[in-house]
Amino acid sequence: MLEKTLIIIKPSGVQREIVGEVITRFERKGLRIAGLKMATLTDKILDEHYAHLADKPFFPRIKQSMTASPVIILCVEGVEAVAVVRAMVGVTNGRNADAGTIRGDFSMSNQENIIHASDSVENAQIEIKRFFIDSEIFDYQKVNISFINNNDELN
Ligand code: ADP
Repeated sequence: MLEKTLIIIKPSGVQREIVGEVITRFERKGLRIAGLKMATLTDKILDEHYAHLADKPFFPRIKQSMTASPVIILCVEGVEAVAVVRAMVGVTNGRNADAGTIRGDFSMSNQENIIHASDSVENAQIEIKRFFIDSEIFDYQKVNISFINNNDELN
């Protein structure tokens, strides 16, 4: 089943100059880039996006960290993309994340952990609408799709 998911390359990824390397991983995996832009996140959008952490003592630090520079926001698509991307990202704390994952390879921190990715299909749909307007999501066909998935997987 084709799914879209939302990815944010955080200020830690932008400042560490690994934006290209991170995006390349998703392209190489066979995910289709459906949307991509740069933005400075606002207080309002961060209050929504991290509402589940609003009562944590580190919440002000998260907001400070997420506004320290612009971020790169991506929407990617693929079969079971939400779970695939979460697996590629690794667990929250970069020190505990498996080698081979983005956080495992590029982060030493719980907070400065390079990347956000939606954690469920339901949240992916909410987050894509939070960060993109409809006309910023592109539904073109990948010409190499038959070399990435067979028809049974795509239908
Ligand atoms: P994930 O990003 O892995 O889905 P959460 O939704 O739990 O994790 O947390 C959102 C973000 O808040 C994390 O990616 C991280 O940047 C930050 N964060 C989470 N827990 C901590 C913590 N204990 N200390 C500092 N920052 C944290």
